[in-house]
Amino acid sequence: MVLKIAIQKAGRLHEESVRLLRDCGIDFNNGVNKLRTEATNFPLEVYFLRDDDIPQYVEDGVAEAGIVGENVVLERQREVLVQEKLGFGRCRLSLAVSRTHPYQGLSDLSGLKIATSYPVLVSAFLEKHQIRAEIHEISGSVEIAPGIGLADAICDLVSSGSTLFMNGLKEVQTVLESEAVLISGKSLGAPQEAILQKLLFRIKSVKRARHNKYILLNAPNDRLGQIIALLPGMKSPTVLPLAEKGWSSVHSVVDEDDFWGIIENLKACGAQGILVVPIEKMII
Ligand code: ATP
Ligand code: ZN
Repeated sequence: MVLKIAIQKAGRLHEESVRLLRDCGIDFNNGVNKLRTEATNFPLEVYFLRDDDIPQYVEDGVAEAGIVGENVVLERQREVLVQEKLGFGRCRLSLAVSRTHPYQGLSDLSGLKIATSYPVLVSAFLEKHQIRAEIHEISGSVEIAPGIGLADAICDLVSSGSTLFMNGLKEVQTVLESEAVLISGKSLGAPQEAILQKLLFRIKSVKRARHNKYILLNAPNDRLGQIIALLPGMKSPTVLPLAEKGWSSVHSVVDEDDFWGIIENLKACGAQGILVVPIEKMII
């Protein structure tokens, strides 16, 4: 028994999807000139597909799981379950108008022609805000539509905003924040469900590890109390005596988000020789 998982064949999500599965300890050849491949050390078969088709394949049971942008899942409206956000492929679906447009607020979109590849999400957004505008669906190069007179505004995926800028557009409203997600079919057989749960367990431990750092430092014993209070650790920090009297080595795990603030406070408390190392897996 294997779990069939669909990932993007080429494009923005391909590399990170492969890396995530590899970091989960799953070995397979990546899909150069291949439609599918079987992992050598985990019951997984990887299908390489266009991202737009992945929700459909998972709904139909051709694959039991998939990695795809949340934006695609929501636009395609397929009957699939979102199991886990994956922390990569971050972008936003945003409305943009010409840089010279005297845009004041959402009501300025009334009556405009909006070009997009996301008609479902854009219609829902306009309806929610009671704006009547015309949606013009195009499948690619949406950002050039205003420049060639095809539309007055666009709604497209943005990460840095440089594509909008290069096309003389300005971002005026976020419609959706998105990142890659792991999806699965709604009713998997028991063996596939068991494999999916194993995969999810590994993905969660990789995500946690990516989000945390292992930290080691030397602390004068008379400041240990303060230093330990700054370092929650998984349970509590490890404290080991150094060969030099009056000093200890303290080991702990720190969340990336609080990281620099904690380092500054540790230094202020007299910590020395601070080492920070990446964590490969983190199981709690
Ligand atoms: P395919 O050939 O598989 O259909 P595509 O051209 O539709 O590929 P990509 O441009 O590779 O798709 O984007 C895949 C996903 O990457 C998007 O659906 C989105 O979730 C995510 N993404 C992250 N940043 C961006 C961005 N700046 N522009 C577009 N997509 C982005
Ligand atoms: Zn696509």
